[in-house]
Parts: sequence; structure tokens; C-alpha cells
Amino acid sequence: MWVYYDISRKAYFSAAHHLENYEGKCASIHGHNFCVEATLKLKKQIPADYIPSYIEKNNGIAIDFGELKKWLTELCDVLDHKDLNEIFGVPPTAENLAMFFTSQIANRARKFFMDAHKDLILESATTNIWENEKSCAAVTISC
Ligand SMILES: [Zn+2]
Repeated sequence: MWVYYDISRKAYFSAAHHLENYEGKCASIHGHNFCVEATLKLKKQIPADYIPSYIEKNNGIAIDFGELKKWLTELCDVLDHKDLNEIFGVPPTAENLAMFFTSQIANRARKFFMDAHKDLILESATTNIWENEKSCAAVTISC
């Protein structure tokens, strides 16, 4: 049978953006305190009768939260206190920000698990981008 792990970490950045070809308040430049939540889904095949955690080769840790923190900090630093329209060649919507973060996190995670954790299979990377407490877009990339 398969056991699945979802490992998540949050980070925050503040930035401005506006939406072009859009009728409404978001057509004007405005800012958000964005919350980014990255989740890696990992899986491992275990015997059907096995009960305890099965990642003991890594001291019970699938991936250190600090690793995800490092990746998110690198990416947030690129965007923090910037005008996102000047950075991206596409409209800086929550969906496109989620795609940016997810593709970058997926690339780092593929390399990480290729190098260090052959007993765990990286299944997917997901990023949720929260523009505020109520509005979130998520993108998942299968790895
Ligand atoms: Zn906005």
C-alpha cells in the first residue's frame, strides 16, 4: 500500500499590481499582503501490515521545513515590495503567481528528492496564493 505525506510551509510578501483589460476596482494599482503556502505531496510504498512512520531513514522527516522556507524566501525576496506588473510578462493574477511559485518549487523539489531521498517519491507540488483571508488561487504540478 501507499502512504502519502503532505508537507507545507507558508511565507509572506507585500506587492502592488493591477489588472489590465479588466473592469472593476482591480484595474487600479493596489497592494496585497500575499500569503504563499507551498505543499509537496510525497508517497512511499509500505508493507500492508506496517503501522509506524516509514521514513525513519531520514529521522522521521520527509523534508525539513527549513528547506521549503529557504526556497520560499528566495522567491518572495524577488517580489517583495515590487510592482508585479513590471516583473511578470503576464498579468500578475493570483493564478499566475501560483503558477510562478509552483513551477519554481517543483523544480527545486525534483532536484532535492533526486539527490537525497530516493525512498520517497515526489508526486506533486501545489502552491496556494492568498490575496487576502477570503481569496485564494492554487496551482498543482505533477512531478
Ligand atoms: Zn489585487
